[in-house]
Amino acid sequence: MGRVSLSFEEEPSHYKEKKACRVCDDFRSWRKKKTMQDQSKLESSGSDLQAPNDCPLDTEQLGRSTWSFLHTMAAYYPEKPTETQKQDMRNFIDLFAKFYPCYHCAADLQENVKAVKPDVRSCYTLSNWFCVQHNIVNRKLSKPEFDCSKVMERWRDGWKDGSCD
Ligand SMILES: Cc1cc2nc3c(=O)[nH]c(=O)nc-3n(C[C@H](O)[C@H](O)[C@H](O)COP(=O)(O)OP(=O)(O)OC[C@H]3O[C@@H](n4cnc5c(N)ncnc54)[C@H](O)[C@@H]3O)c2cc1C
Repeated sequence: MGRVSLSFEEEPSHYKEKKACRVCDDFRSWRKKKTMQDQSKLESSGSDLQAPNDCPLDTEQLGRSTWSFLHTMAAYYPEKPTETQKQDMRNFIDLFAKFYPCYHCAADLQENVKAVKPDVRSCYTLSNWFCVQHNIVNRKLSKPEFDCSKVMERWRDGWKDGSCD
């Protein structure tokens, strides 16, 4: 899948300068890159390395929190949105894809949004659209795909077996 091509001037400085980017990497990769840049900080980079809870987010923490927000927002979007609400949601998704702070994630997302337009007709179609988007990322990261027929149970109603009640 191709990247959105941005001109050199548009790229964030951490990319131009090939600096470590915390929200673009998991904590261990970020720490490794940073340590390579700063030889005075040659510290442990073992597999159990974790940031304390009150540190800035890495790409996994940011991703988890963001998906939780996006799926929940979609699940609580109206069943019958007005034309204004539909347009607002399209605008939100466009802007979100521009400003998501993991730069390479955002570039891919912009491509995907262009390829398959957000389906803003109802909370069901929008939830399915976000589910498909999330599965695109899951595939890219070799994670299991989620069954999109269960997206409302996962993010709004709770599982049919009552385990969330
Ligand atoms: C827009 C966006 C783009 C991203 N792009 C990248 C990237 O390019 N590279 C990268 O390394 N990371 C990326 N991430 C982060 C990545 O998707 C994960 O959030 C992160 O790796 C943490 O994964 P996780 O296994 O904890 O669960 P997550 O993938 O964060 O999922 C959280 C929970 O959502 C549920 N879920 C899983 N799949 C679906 C689905 N399809 N629909 C509904 N619910 C689902 C599951 O219950 C899961 O536990 C991106 C995140 C976002 C929001």
